[in-house]
Amino acid sequence: MQEDSPVQNENTPDTPHTEQPQRAGRRNRLVVLSAAALVALGLGGVAVATTGGDHPAPAAVSLDAQARAEAASRADRSVRGSSTPVAPSLSPTPSPSAVSASPTPAKKAAAKAKPKPKKTTRPTPAWVDPMPGAAVTSCYGQRWGTLHAGIDLALPSGTPIHAAAAGTVTQAGDASDGYGNSVFIDHGNGYLTHYAHQSRIAVTVGQKVKAGQVIGYEGATGDSTGPHLHFEVHQGMWNQIDPAPFMRARGVDLGC
Ligand SMILES: [Zn+2]
Repeated sequence: MQEDSPVQNENTPDTPHTEQPQRAGRRNRLVVLSAAALVALGLGGVAVATTGGDHPAPAAVSLDAQARAEAASRADRSVRGSSTPVAPSLSPTPSPSAVSASPTPAKKAAAKAKPKPKKTTRPTPAWVDPMPGAAVTSCYGQRWGTLHAGIDLALPSGTPIHAAAAGTVTQAGDASDGYGNSVFIDHGNGYLTHYAHQSRIAVTVGQKVKAGQVIGYEGATGDSTGPHLHFEVHQGMWNQIDPAPFMRARGVDLGC
């Protein structure tokens, strides 16, 4: 039944007053203990005093910290405010568009320029080697007491013979004086070329030929010790000249 009485006492205003003396006693005990502790420290009291003197300092620091925090918040606001309208973010946008636009016309120009040189074909030279790759067995000059009036070019029988330059065929057939099957081409500039000892002739008199065109095939007809092309240059009919310097002056080296 005693348990019910305190509940009733709490409802009454007098009950708190009864508890106050107990709390006051605890406070007094704490003050005594704290005083005893200060006395116990004794010698350390000086240090306590110095630390006590420093107490206002931390308060000032705390004020400074608040001021700094406020300044920092202002700084962040100022930075944020300044960073938002910054132009650099806008500048990179137009630059890539300008870069992407410039290479496009450059590639088109390069693509247009490349095919042009490929379409160009080499023009046929005015004068060509009548039998390319042949070995020179005799040059123009005195031989065995007589004039060898041409250059002998040797390759296996049947090798194609090419017109040294464009012109008109003036003779095509068996010629006299041991030339065998021969072709004469008049180049229209006072010069003629003569191709002797052919095994077979591929052109006819009056035919117009181009430089490099096949006019016949190498052989050993006529007075010949073996298959070869006897090549002559005439400055006027039957006025043979040395073919080597004549052809060399026109870009063809026959090797003599
Ligand atoms: Zn010869």
